[in-house]
Amino acid sequence: MSINEQSLAYGSSKSRIREIAAYGAARKAEIGVDKVFDFSLGNPSIPAPDDVRKSIERLVAMPAAKLHSYTPASGLPEVRASIAQSINKRFAVESTELYGSDSLAEANDLYMTCGAAASITITLGALCNPGDEVMVVAPYFPEYRVWIESSQATCVEVMADSSSFQLDIAALRSALNENTKALIINSPNNPTGVVYSRESLVELAALLTEHSEKTGNTVYLIADEPYRELVYGGAEVPWLPGIYANTIVCYSYSKSLSLPGERIGWVLVSPRCAEHDQLVAAVAGAGRKLGFVCAPALFQRVIADCVDLEPNVEAYEHNRQLLMEGLGKLGYEFVEPQGAFYLWMKALEPDADAFFEKARELELLPVPSDSFGCPGWVRIGYCVDAQTIEGSMDAWAQLMESYR
Ligand code: PLP
Repeated sequence: MSINEQSLAYGSSKSRIREIAAYGAARKAEIGVDKVFDFSLGNPSIPAPDDVRKSIERLVAMPAAKLHSYTPASGLPEVRASIAQSINKRFAVESTELYGSDSLAEANDLYMTCGAAASITITLGALCNPGDEVMVVAPYFPEYRVWIESSQATCVEVMADSSSFQLDIAALRSALNENTKALIINSPNNPTGVVYSRESLVELAALLTEHSEKTGNTVYLIADEPYRELVYGGAEVPWLPGIYANTIVCYSYSKSLSLPGERIGWVLVSPRCAEHDQLVAAVAGAGRKLGFVCAPALFQRVIADCVDLEPNVEAYEHNRQLLMEGLGKLGYEFVEPQGAFYLWMKALEPDADAFFEKARELELLPVPSDSFGCPGWVRIGYCVDAQTIEGSMDAWAQLMESYR
């Protein structure tokens, strides 16, 4: 074989989410948009805030040669400085109280990226050597496995608590070993909608600290946070660099500002990381190796303009309520989502794929849970029009009926 086998394998197998979304689009073209209830893709359904459009309009009036030129590989210094300032404004109180001003983020700690996907691949590239293990909490975003394996590390799945889907600290303790390089956690979580409690994160930090001290190998916490601002009912999303020193935050504006196609985000190496300066250099080196230098220049500048914007999550909150009430009345079991825009629902039989096939016959398109590394559930993305949820309820009722 003359071409790369791993790449060929990844390119030849579509992600289950994308496969279902493509089926949904084809089916809509066939029988009508309002007859198919597609809950597959995590594409934000609320538009980007108007301030984003205003910023773009202002920026396109800049001299073109300046606007479209390369930026430094890690991003424009003034953009990174404004992001650092915003981070400190929002989160520094909790970390400075504990750790003093050394814990404040600086422009130099940030590397601008093409979204969370690039943030995570860059971080893994900065950390991993062949033979390293990276733990993920199952159910998990399926691309983690692709990114971990392509950075020559091994993906180790550790189940979350099987009823609350919060972290299972005992299971994480059993999976840690001397090859563990990092743990990726994602809160608010895709696919479960769970927000990890402060209590469990403090416990996790103690576990990782104890393990790192015992083995002499630092275990890094990779905080994948594209859904940080999408929370309901006042759920708290603790700032992990304030809880665990060796944290790298991978952020993206794909979901918070509804800009998934623009590919913009950042990596933050927490100022309190062991080997901080080498890690900052390794992040830049991984960006260089992967060709992820100079994130889109226009959108770097848009982010500087919009850095403190909070999303209006009313529409998601409304959808979440509609789904919970509708499915709850029908007798479905699900985890009450505290964040993101996914509802994690128990399939009506142990085989989630078989359940999905029955749902599909009724034009319902959730994502079966096996591709998230967990049997027996489905993910319902509620980043859709409210009419899709309302219109789907008869089909969910028929599906429930078919199991009686
Ligand atoms: N991490 C999680 C948990 C996600 O759900 C997604 C996208 O859906 C990503 C990372 C990738 O985000 P981005 O589009 O910013 O690359």
